[in-house]
Amino acid sequence: MTHHIAIIGAGIAGLSAAYHLQKEAARQDRDVHITIFDASARPGGKLRTERIDGFIIEAGPDSYFGQKPDATQLIQELGLAHELIGARPEHKGVYIRENGRLVPLPEGVMLIIPTRIIPFALSPLFSPWAKLRMGLEVFIPPRKDDGDETLADFIRRRLGEEALERLAEPLLAGIHNADAEKQSIMATFPRFRALEKQHGSLIRGMMAMRRRSSPPPAPAHSAQPNLPRGAFISLREGMESLVQALMQALKADLHLQTPVKRIQAQGSGFLLHLAHNQVAYADQALLATPAYAAATMISDLSPKLAAGLRAIRYVDTGVATLAYRTEDIPAPRTGYGILIPRKENRRINAITWTSRKWAGRAPEGYELLRVFFGGSRRPDVFALSDEALLAAVREELRDIMGIYAEPTLVRIHRWPRASAQYDVGHLERIAALEAACPANLHLIGSAYRGVGVPDCIRQGRIAAERALALTRA
Ligand SMILES: Cc1cc2nc3c(=O)[nH]c(=O)nc-3n(C[C@H](O)[C@H](O)[C@H](O)COP(=O)(O)OP(=O)(O)OC[C@H]3O[C@@H](n4cnc5c(N)ncnc54)[C@H](O)[C@@H]3O)c2cc1C
Repeated sequence: MTHHIAIIGAGIAGLSAAYHLQKEAARQDRDVHITIFDASARPGGKLRTERIDGFIIEAGPDSYFGQKPDATQLIQELGLAHELIGARPEHKGVYIRENGRLVPLPEGVMLIIPTRIIPFALSPLFSPWAKLRMGLEVFIPPRKDDGDETLADFIRRRLGEEALERLAEPLLAGIHNADAEKQSIMATFPRFRALEKQHGSLIRGMMAMRRRSSPPPAPAHSAQPNLPRGAFISLREGMESLVQALMQALKADLHLQTPVKRIQAQGSGFLLHLAHNQVAYADQALLATPAYAAATMISDLSPKLAAGLRAIRYVDTGVATLAYRTEDIPAPRTGYGILIPRKENRRINAITWTSRKWAGRAPEGYELLRVFFGGSRRPDVFALSDEALLAAVREELRDIMGIYAEPTLVRIHRWPRASAQYDVGHLERIAALEAACPANLHLIGSAYRGVGVPDCIRQGRIAAERALALTRA
């Protein structure tokens, strides 16, 4: 008998689940019918690339962390490996805005941990006291238990206040659009706690990895020839080409502009309520939407689970992309971009110099900048009208980078309630939600076990394996 599996949400988590289900069902000769529902008019969720006048503009993610293998594996399986690109090594480097100046991140700082003494000692980024404090990290006794703490508490404990303010907050909290005073270290950067536990110190742990010449940012696939090296990986034509390749590979029924409004128990499966009084039956349902959308769907089915899902906080984030003529951008002339610590009190959070970081993003003679706004720091900036926002962004670019010229192209992408906040205790709360979930209902996506593209792909694959195993029952 055909087993009906519904996937609700055609973002990267849902599409990855559909792909793995289709592949494994065929391999195991299972009669599975997959139906995907998405509220919007296009598949891919936050993966969206625009091509305008020779520019490649990412509305959402522009790359993924290569050390997590799931994205690269999927891209290889889809026959897209030749499209993988690494960041351009000739422009390597990042600036931090410190007290109004742009200070390069010292060489040898791996994520936030100094591993080379001389560049670190000479850097103007930290005060002499902070450098000493960071160096003393090797003598600070490690925390041995696996209890959670905030990113801020962890960094203060190991490396001190300045390391938090000038590096960890803009970099590590910035990646998650999070508030470092709330962000769970165990849910977002467990690797640091593992290093602390294993080596007694982050610096010693990083040095040991350096000696073994396998620093953490090296991609998991770096042993394979022909694949790009470097911490972050992208696709030549933009991240949406992954969605296009998935769509070509998928034979599932895809219903766009079809939000699932409510899920009701029906026998051993579910009845999905769609618009215009339409319904669809599914033996299993994979909920691959934001947690608050999943909560609305299951509020009758399981009020308790719905309440837990609703409690996951989200913040609004946005990206403004601006194109300039190369000669209109005076400084700095190198680097992938600028991190802006919260204490600098600016209206924007970070700038990626997209055309320096990735080849082929702008035509000859032009540059592309990606400016991040909103997040947990500045909800007020997210709320501005497009006109006021653009004016604010341009003022910030003038103050921070000395750009006075008119941009030749502007695109603003707003993502309301886009970034799930992994507050302290997140992993325990997610484990409890998963335990409360009926076996044939699966929760996947950026709200749960990782926000990055590879994390969402991994969650899709694991849910697909679990769902397929249940078809045997
Ligand atoms: C600006 C920005 C930059 C980012 N940069 C990076 C980066 O560089 N690298 C990285 O790894 N990650 C990055 N991320 C994070 C990453 O893009 C997301 O975490 C990931 O794409 C989320 O995928 P998802 O499938 O969980 O959810 P989504 O992409 O949000 O997909 C959920 C889908 O559910 C659908 N839906 C909602 N409600 C319903 C309903 N009732 N019925 C049916 N369908 C519904 C939506 O239409 C949507 O298509 C970024 C995110 C943003 C916003």
